Amino acid sequence: MNDLYPAERLRQVADGVRDHGLGALLLTPGPDLRYVTGYEAKQLERLTCLVVPAGGDPFLVVPRLELKAAQASPAGDLGVELVTWGETDDPFGLIAGRVRDCESVAVADRMWALFTLRFAEAFPKARQVLASEVLSPIRVRKSEAEVAALREAGAAIDRVHAQVPGWLRPGVTEREVGAKITEAILAAGHVSVDFTIVGSGPNAASPHHEVSDRVINSGDVVVVDIGGTMPSGYCSDCTRTYAVGTPPEEFAAYYRVLQSAQDAACEAAGPGVPAENVDAAARDIITAAGYGEWFIHRTGHGIGLETHEDPYIVSGNDTPLEPGMAFSVEPGIYPGPHGARIEDIVVCTSSGRERLNQAPRDLVIV
Ligand code: ZN
Ligand code: ZN
Ligand code: ZN
Repeated sequence: MNDLYPAERLRQVADGVRDHGLGALLLTPGPDLRYVTGYEAKQLERLTCLVVPAGGDPFLVVPRLELKAAQASPAGDLGVELVTWGETDDPFGLIAGRVRDCESVAVADRMWALFTLRFAEAFPKARQVLASEVLSPIRVRKSEAEVAALREAGAAIDRVHAQVPGWLRPGVTEREVGAKITEAILAAGHVSVDFTIVGSGPNAASPHHEVSDRVINSGDVVVVDIGGTMPSGYCSDCTRTYAVGTPPEEFAAYYRVLQSAQDAACEAAGPGVPAENVDAAARDIITAAGYGEWFIHRTGHGIGLETHEDPYIVSGNDTPLEPGMAFSVEPGIYPGPHGARIEDIVVCTSSGRERLNQAPRDLVIV
């Protein structure tokens, strides 16, 4: 275990299970299991599951052939019992036999239905709830080590954006640019590429467009939204909008509005500020300038071991921001023939906020 995955986290989670009046928490491979144990277990049809019972010690159930991997992971230093099962055993019955008389079990939000349904059979009297009930309030406040990991991810993706202007020119396709970006995301220190959005021309107005064979023309604007996962497990996510040659006049006008909206939203973030106020700070400026109908998504999402997690920066979420909460601030304006988005990861600090992306936000014309 280390600063990023401290051993006391498991005790914190066990307290959460009891505080919520749950019988047990069941975590199969995914971000929750990694958060609690540091174990980046493979998603397999064979069950791996951390069991945190309300009454009793946590234990990690692993297929016998995964034992060495589990022992070698940070979970091996946690002091939890590793319980193995063989190819002809029933791991669900094994768990139910150790955790009796549960009225409720919390299952990992990303547990496969394959396991969720088997657990429903193994615990016929138990109500299933989402593990995020217990875990989200803990995961949402990042430790200093986690913020440092996100800062490192931000710097890595900034290094990729710094190279993007060199790859954008008339005659290349979105896919060709995307391939260069994919390579660069890995070269910058990520272990995986989570997404590569290169939206040129009308594709810039489709927020989750990935890449296509569209050829980039002079006068196009290009939305580049990219992210990956670092060896720490923590994710990057950053958007910049570029213009190839002189962009249309109306574009330059709303890009300025977008930039001031994104700035205002970042400045609005701070301890005690409801998450929805950050959304409003961006939306009010965009709406006042007459582009409100083209800002078709929330302002942001939390980020950590997952690219999208709590807290969501959206109208209706009045959760007050707290130091350590990390989230994107990414307003966009998408009128149709083109569009624009600017995105930074921001972390709430005790006195305000810190942006984790430093790539220039002024319109880059290549
Ligand atoms: Zn998105
Ligand atoms: Zn993004
Ligand atoms: Zn994002």
